[in-house]
Amino acid sequence: RAKSAGRARTALFDASLRAQLAEQVNLERDLRRAIEQTQLSLAFQPIYDLASGRIDSFEALVRWDHPELGAVPPATFIPIAEDSAMISPLTDWVLASACRRLREFQQLQGQGLRARLHVNVSGTDMCRSNFVARVSTALLSNQLEPGQLTLEITESTLMHRLDAALQVMAQLREIGVGLSVDDFGTGYSSLAYLSTLPITSLKIDRSFVQRLNADARDAKDAEVVRAVITLGNALGKTVIAEGIETPEQLAQLRLMGCQFGQGYLLARPLTPEMAGALAQAERLRDAPPGAVADRDADAP
Ligand code: C2E
Ligand code: MG
Ligand code: MG
Ligand code: MG
Repeated sequence: RAKSAGRARTALFDASLRAQLAEQVNLERDLRRAIEQTQLSLAFQPIYDLASGRIDSFEALVRWDHPELGAVPPATFIPIAEDSAMISPLTDWVLASACRRLREFQQLQGQGLRARLHVNVSGTDMCRSNFVARVSTALLSNQLEPGQLTLEITESTLMHRLDAALQVMAQLREIGVGLSVDDFGTGYSSLAYLSTLPITSLKIDRSFVQRLNADARDAKDAEVVRAVITLGNALGKTVIAEGIETPEQLAQLRLMGCQFGQGYLLARPLTPEMAGALAQAERLRDAPPGAVADRDADAP
């Protein structure tokens, strides 16, 4: 009896696995098409200097409007792209489109100001031999300085192939591209690696920021965030808090000496047009954070 139950379970497992695989294969095929056609777009979420309220840079976030499924979140299709050959064309599309937009923002911002951009890249793609050349091409063809670009790599994909990643990171730093550890605190790199990684900034994961509430003022969670900010600052890294949603979180982060932040409270991911308008407004005055909080690219 145990044997047949086991067999039934296996059959069930096989069926759902097959369905899952089929879905994955379709998404992979569809993604190939999406890159060739115009189903992909970019949203831009500002990163603010928390002390001055000025925009420091924009993070490009890819969007996929699937013809049948509608909006497919990057959390669903990026892992599929990473497991297939699709990640490189996807990265190249994002890099080229984001750099082209940054060039536009820069023109809107006017003389003297240099708009800056953050682009998410997959650790697996970064480890390909031609990666640095591909980044250079995107910068050169849009007449951008390497210092205007920061690449964000999630802590988990970074640690996955650390040795290979470190080599590429060193080359990127050599040409002047900034490097940021994304979702810091969720992977395994921990504080021990912070001083040795050739990074310019770190982004404290949203899950830590979310625990900074008024009633948790003295809680251990707040102390963890404080420690990361203090250490990051001491090591000369730019510290960016992601996922700021409440005024309490913002106030606490400021008190803790966190210089940069991002989140729905300040601005949602915006259409390129909205982001451009914001860049233009920066030219004339300090943009008050929150002013564009409800005009987002994700709204239906
Ligand atoms: P991430 O780089 O950590 O980006 C932050 C994510 O949190 C974004 O989700 C953003 O829309 C969302 N977010 C921003 N502020 C808030 C907030 O205050 N509250 C909450 N709850 N969420 C907030 P999104 O756009 O769905 O992207 C998810 C992840 O997908 C990104 O996480 C990034 O790891 C990956 N991703 C996005 N675009 C790209 C890309 O072009 N290439 C690669 N390789 N990965 C990408
Ligand atoms: Mg990111
Ligand atoms: Mg992040
Ligand atoms: Mg995140």
